[in-house]
Amino acid sequence: MNDLLTFIAQSPSPFHAVDNLCRELLSSGYTRLAEGEWWSLAPGGKYFVTRNGSALLAFRLPEGPFRGFMVSASHSDAPTFRVKENAELMGPEGYVRLNTERYGGMLCAPWLDRPLTVAGRVLVQTAENIETRLVYVDKDLLLIPNVAIHMNREANSGYKYDAKCDTIPLMGLGEEKGTFRALVARAAGCGPEEILGTDLYLCPRQRGLVWGAQEEFISSPRLDDLQCAYGCFRGFLAASGSGSVPVYALLDNEEVGSLTKQGADGTLLADVLRRVCAALGAEPAAIAANSFLVSADNAHAVHPNHPEYHDATHRPAMNGGIVIKQGARYATDGASQAVFTALCRRAGVPVQHFSNRSDLAGGGTLGLIANAHVSMNTVDIGLAQLAMHSCFETAGARDTEYLVQAMTAFYSASFHEENGRFALE
Ligand code: ZN
Repeated sequence: MNDLLTFIAQSPSPFHAVDNLCRELLSSGYTRLAEGEWWSLAPGGKYFVTRNGSALLAFRLPEGPFRGFMVSASHSDAPTFRVKENAELMGPEGYVRLNTERYGGMLCAPWLDRPLTVAGRVLVQTAENIETRLVYVDKDLLLIPNVAIHMNREANSGYKYDAKCDTIPLMGLGEEKGTFRALVARAAGCGPEEILGTDLYLCPRQRGLVWGAQEEFISSPRLDDLQCAYGCFRGFLAASGSGSVPVYALLDNEEVGSLTKQGADGTLLADVLRRVCAALGAEPAAIAANSFLVSADNAHAVHPNHPEYHDATHRPAMNGGIVIKQGARYATDGASQAVFTALCRRAGVPVQHFSNRSDLAGGGTLGLIANAHVSMNTVDIGLAQLAMHSCFETAGARDTEYLVQAMTAFYSASFHEENGRFALE
């Protein structure tokens, strides 16, 4: 469990998450491919490719012909606040604040009154070209202060947060203009004038922890979706060979609709699968029919204080195993559910089911979006958690291991469909 929390702590932005996985892939013998070059892929080879530094795809090739792709997809981003280009707000009084806008649909209240900093990437002008540098300002730099209850008597009765004022973080008192840029430049190892572009986001400083009377819970920033990203990755690395190509996908921008080149609505997954088919002389349509996608994004556990928000007969529990999600905004159908349930049974992993209460819209995820580009049998799954889109979320301490077990079995298998008969072998 501590490995998950360490991974999350070291991944304060999607760029850091992808960078951490790249390092692990390189040390596990994987070859890095560049999208802009010709790929010479060898049987038995292990490869990965990134796009925008915030999305990643890794895959292994079998020695002989292959039947299909066994794919998992999760997302690298989480709701937060994006720091604007001209970031410093000077005043009122001597206060210096950072101008931000919302990224994704966060719960606002948890972001207040806790230490924050910034993380992301900056683009730096060097003598030869423009270089990407990852940035994490490693100090308690920012805080969004609440208004005292004496001044805002409405604070405890359904307060509406105004993004242009209520969630603006405070950085200092009396600092000169340019202080923030200088801090970021120092973290990037360059001068402030060498920074040509930035993608910087707020992140909580609090580390994840294990808690509860019997250590049954974990709480951490970004459990949605780094818990699934991590569990699928461990399963991908641990799996043994099969007659299919295991593919690990981590995509960005799910929280803002996936409509970017590095998101599920971009072409990364389709491009890579097509290139693998071309390199191995396989027919993409035949391969897709024998491929399977696990879209892994966290699910809602029944809330202890508000059990009424869940459907009467679909009530996922933390530490209850993998949640299969069904409904209009999910890709799961009877067939994909059956195949994945059979797999979990074989792996000794419990499954439970989520469906929205019929009068609630709920949220969507990347399974359906990815399917529009690469159509294959798909199941939407997740691990049960509380306080989704808070900046400090809570999940079951035992569920990550269930996901690792299930995904190890998944990546060790091949999928085959013929006239309504389905096999995972
Ligand atoms: Zn998510």
